[in-house]
Amino acid sequence: MLYLSTRGHPDRKRFCEILLEGLAPDGGLYLPERYPQVDDATLTRWRGLAYHELAFEILSLYIDDIPATDLRALCRKTYTEAVFGTPQIVPLRKLEAGVYLEALSNGPTLAFKDMAMQLLGHLFEYELARRGESLNILGATSGDTGSAAEYAMKGKKGVRVFMTSPHGRMSPFQQAQMFSLQEANIHNLAIEGVFDDCQDIVKAVSNDLAFKRKYRIGTVNSINWARLVAQVVYYFAGYFQATTSNDQKVSFTVPSGNFGNICAGHVARMMGLPIAKLVAATNENDVLDEFFRTGTYRVRGSADTFETSSPSMDISKASNFERFVFDLLGRDAARVKHLFQDELGARGRFELPAEVAAARERYGFASGRSSHADRLATIRDTWQRYQDMIDTHTADGVKVAREQRDPLVPMIVLETALPIKFAATIVEALDRQPHRPAGFEGIEDRPKRVRVMPADVDQVKAYIASHCD
Ligand SMILES: *Cc1c(COP(=O)(O)O)cnc(C)c1O
Repeated sequence: MLYLSTRGHPDRKRFCEILLEGLAPDGGLYLPERYPQVDDATLTRWRGLAYHELAFEILSLYIDDIPATDLRALCRKTYTEAVFGTPQIVPLRKLEAGVYLEALSNGPTLAFKDMAMQLLGHLFEYELARRGESLNILGATSGDTGSAAEYAMKGKKGVRVFMTSPHGRMSPFQQAQMFSLQEANIHNLAIEGVFDDCQDIVKAVSNDLAFKRKYRIGTVNSINWARLVAQVVYYFAGYFQATTSNDQKVSFTVPSGNFGNICAGHVARMMGLPIAKLVAATNENDVLDEFFRTGTYRVRGSADTFETSSPSMDISKASNFERFVFDLLGRDAARVKHLFQDELGARGRFELPAEVAAARERYGFASGRSSHADRLATIRDTWQRYQDMIDTHTADGVKVAREQRDPLVPMIVLETALPIKFAATIVEALDRQPHRPAGFEGIEDRPKRVRVMPADVDQVKAYIASHCD
């Protein structure tokens, strides 16, 4: 399997080459040259598999430069009951007639990013050892990504993590999760500023090519193909739990921000998984809903990017969206390059009114949006009617799923985080504290390892330089 860039760069790469890279050299995103096709007999064979076996089967269609025995072992040690809380790993539960919740948030940081990041941690350690190299991951987080990366990389050989976050702006639980880690290869840098300042610092460091090379700086952001392909697995696992035969279809509603999660659903569908609809649920930052309703993709300035109570979906542009547009335009890389480089660069928007009809018909895409008031009402409603407490992002999904539901097709909402991560909004909705899973008692009181520093690129660089050997 070879990988190409959505912007038409002539190089073709293998999986392990793109594993440690971010963007393609021309600024595009990596995609496989073709999507492997899964036939009826294969689906039937996969139905009975344990999650780690299913992960191996799917990943081995995309990864041919890791020996099968090694890849199998990596999948086995990633997807365990000890790490993800249940033998099913992503258990499905019925919420109401025709609507199900697929739990993706029982991993170490209680959000769905663990599903991919835990695998990435093992893949990085494996590949770096094979090359005899090391890597220093520099990232910016407003919450879920940073903690998922740290829990995946903690204690891994050959990897160090330097994670910037806006000082005092994450929820107390999220701060406790990250800052209580005691592993020597994890470094928390609390920046006196907002999330954008953290992102600007990461960009500035990455643009200093000499520094980047000298200190072997890498990233783990959501455009990484390995993260995306790991997420394809739970679409299959959800389908198998909701159906008894391959003649049945299901739909998915996905709380969406950077379009990484739902893009994995698109890939699963392209492989032949019988998906009827893929519904993107957004919050007040409705870049994606606007596109699927009108055909206009319009990135937002920071003044138009809102801080909401589903903060992990607060995006100004959807960084994985280019992958889907590439398929939508029949893989016309020249056109993708024109839209994402020239049109977005010059006008901050582009229009695809005819293509968006195809997105709905051919690829089953739909969308909807949810507000703070909708979120509170949905959390309240599911608690009062079903005693099921859902988090704010999942609530956006449930709200939109109910609007988009077809009575004949099971609708699976991806549960992307647990309520404990966003306790303030749960208290606002229900006037009670969210349930705290075992093992998280009192984490706010544990000793914290964090360095507070001003939003200053040179100080961050100096810190990195003095903590690398
Ligand atoms: C990251 C995140 C999302 C958004 O996922 P994308 O892949 O960026 O679309 C939704 N919910 C939660 C809880 C998240 O952490």
